[in-house]
Amino acid sequence: MKNELSAWEKEKKLIPVMIKKYCRGRHKQERKAQGVKGGDTCAECRELTEYALFRLEQCPFKVNKKFCSFCRIHCYKPDMREKIKAVMKYSGPRMIATHPIFALSHVVQMIKYKKRLKAEAEKK
Ligand SMILES: [Zn+2]
Repeated sequence: MKNELSAWEKEKKLIPVMIKKYCRGRHKQERKAQGVKGGDTCAECRELTEYALFRLEQCPFKVNKKFCSFCRIHCYKPDMREKIKAVMKYSGPRMIATHPIFALSHVVQMIKYKKRLKAEAEKK
């Protein structure tokens, strides 16, 4: 089924976009020091992009339509996990405005899920 892979494929396209956005917004000094221009990312973000795409390729849930970024993020190395979390926190809300298709992504579902969990925890 084509549709079963589309979420995964979408995410594969979105991850580099999110990291670029984050890099442009947060790594101005690094970019300047490395002479990074336009759509490129700094060395650190390039490494993160490669790592994220590698993990996505390796994801055992790739062919399962119920796969979720949530579990995938748990298989990141701790330092990479912190970085990707920062990227999602920064780029996630911005992506919803500029990339409506992003609203369908697993990443957004994860952010919403976490928000709901937090809201529910605060109610108690
Ligand atoms: Zn960067």
